[in-house]
Amino acid sequence: MSLEFSQERVVGTPDAERARVLADPVFGEVMTDHMVTIKWSRERGWHDARLGAYGPLTLDPTAQVFHYGQEIFEGLKAYRRADGSIVSFRPDANAARLNTSAARMAMPALPEEAFLEALRLLVDADRDWVPTGEGRSLYLRPFMIATQSSLGFYRPSDSYLFVVVAGPAGAYFKGGVEPVSVWLTTDYTRAADGGTGAAKCGGNYAGTLVAQEQAAEHGCDQVVWLDAKERRWVDEMGTSNMFFVYGDRLVTPELTGTLLAGITRDSVLTLARDLGLVAEEGRISVEQWRADAEAGRLTEVFSCGTSSMITPVGRAKSADGEWLMGDGRPGAVTMRLRAELMGIQSGELPDRHGWVHKMA
Ligand SMILES: *Cc1c(COP(=O)(O)O)cnc(C)c1O
Repeated sequence: MSLEFSQERVVGTPDAERARVLADPVFGEVMTDHMVTIKWSRERGWHDARLGAYGPLTLDPTAQVFHYGQEIFEGLKAYRRADGSIVSFRPDANAARLNTSAARMAMPALPEEAFLEALRLLVDADRDWVPTGEGRSLYLRPFMIATQSSLGFYRPSDSYLFVVVAGPAGAYFKGGVEPVSVWLTTDYTRAADGGTGAAKCGGNYAGTLVAQEQAAEHGCDQVVWLDAKERRWVDEMGTSNMFFVYGDRLVTPELTGTLLAGITRDSVLTLARDLGLVAEEGRISVEQWRADAEAGRLTEVFSCGTSSMITPVGRAKSADGEWLMGDGRPGAVTMRLRAELMGIQSGELPDRHGWVHKMA
């Protein structure tokens, strides 16, 4: 049975105020006029789906999410195209990943069509909030929290709330694309074997802030996460996946269960092969990374994820020293893949894989 959404359209933000925000949108700062909520209870399953006014949630202080961190989320973007239509990129993959995360966190699965309908209704209601301009988008943030009021912790919550909110986002790079520097921490790890590293859950983020501060103290923009056991194998970077470029061969860390299966990562694997490059999943150690970069075999490194798309890595630093990727400037393969991905999203390049979904 599919969910019926009740819909309440609100009198929105005044046009002049919205225009001011859209003139220079800053990711995560201003949200749109609407949100979608869907409730779940053990007795009723998913129910009470609604599109309504954006606003605070009212939760009991003992709601389980506040104490035991049962929370998962997704992140994707809607783009306004030159013809005025609004599209999103592989939202079905986000729907599937939400449910993978839900299974790991003992939360209920949300039917994919309810996830997609929630996004579609929100984008349609807030279509005037989708910015125009290269690299700009409406960022969509679906999430699910445990709402049962009880400090008892002996089994998963009896009730959950799924929410989707949205806000305009500016281009990640305002001027030209700037390479980032990365700090390889051996003091902290993000995820261990058997843990929650492959789930997109808030708790994974809370534990990484201290390492991000450490990276900044070492003059670096981002943290690189190494495996928890040997502190030797590269997992990912900050909140994005990594690619290592050896001429016309790309390697990305394999999905061992301790890293997040990025949809951008998956798309880059496919696009690289479309471009005639060899794209593989494998293991990269810190020693190999450094030796190959210093020998000139490793020509480029980049990270990828929904928020930053594709970002070149120019310089790496560890407790043992620092090294450059090539001359430290964005590499040709990185920029080619970036142009390919952004071209498909904007509609300037053909969508060969059926990744683009019309939203409004
Ligand atoms: C969301 C996320 C990514 C990137 O995933 P995309 O689907 O490409 O946006 C990578 N690593 C972590 C830890 C993440 O949370």
